[in-house]
Amino acid sequence: MDFHVLTLFPDMVRQGLNTSIIGRAIKDGHITLNTVNIRDFSVNKHNRVDDYPYGGGAGMVIQAEPVYRAWESVAKNSKAIKQGKKPRCIYLTPQGKVFHQTMVEEFAQEEELIFLCGHYEGIDERVLEEVVTDYVSIGDYVLTGGELPAMVMVDAISRMVPGVLANDESGTTESFEGNLLEYPQYSRPEDWMGKKVPAILLSGDHAKVEAWRREQSIKRTMERRPDLLADADLTAKEKAMVEHLLDKSQGKC
Ligand code: SAM
Repeated sequence: MDFHVLTLFPDMVRQGLNTSIIGRAIKDGHITLNTVNIRDFSVNKHNRVDDYPYGGGAGMVIQAEPVYRAWESVAKNSKAIKQGKKPRCIYLTPQGKVFHQTMVEEFAQEEELIFLCGHYEGIDERVLEEVVTDYVSIGDYVLTGGELPAMVMVDAISRMVPGVLANDESGTTESFEGNLLEYPQYSRPEDWMGKKVPAILLSGDHAKVEAWRREQSIKRTMERRPDLLADADLTAKEKAMVEHLLDKSQGKC
């Protein structure tokens, strides 16, 4: 998977991603990270890339031309363009669809992705219309720039790329798989500050451990993200358990 990030702050993106698991994935060649400095495509003799918004108002707007040229520098060599298609280009914006695990899995099917990071008041709408294929937000709050959201997306998508995680299983047994949160995890020691690891986890009985984890997943999802349960893959018995727990929490039994 090839990631290209168009940004005014390439160092921030490289430093943020060249660490730990993602850093190792870059080093091992499972993913590539190409940062493109939009300022290198400035058409202004002072290297400026922003200007005042037409119509007035606070802040500055990143101009269309440097963004277009930065995008073109990547797009012209993209596999998509060679196949006569528009490369997938994601504009990070609080006005986009909110990022979630299903989107992670969908984006992970692509061979390459271009991320466009805004700053200041954002980017001239005309170039967005020209190059952007997807508008994505990482949550309903406003950040100073698109760099952190781009890093969040690259991290989450990279985990789905074969070879990135040391243990291939862990990518598919995490929270949100089957619309459930993950069960609680424990490690040594067995007794910490008087709190004991649940005995079932020490039993060596894999079937019982799995059953316990499944139940914990459902209970945790009920407590913390009940909105997920409506689309969770539950058996009839599990649905009955959820209803019973709901009744209990509402004092009906
Ligand atoms: N004026 C814009 C608005 O009201 O929609 C917000 C601009 S914001 C201060 C600057 C840049 O940060 C945006 O262009 C975008 O790239 C990025 N950004 C801010 N919040 C974000 C979020 N929740 N998700 C994704 N990107 C975000």
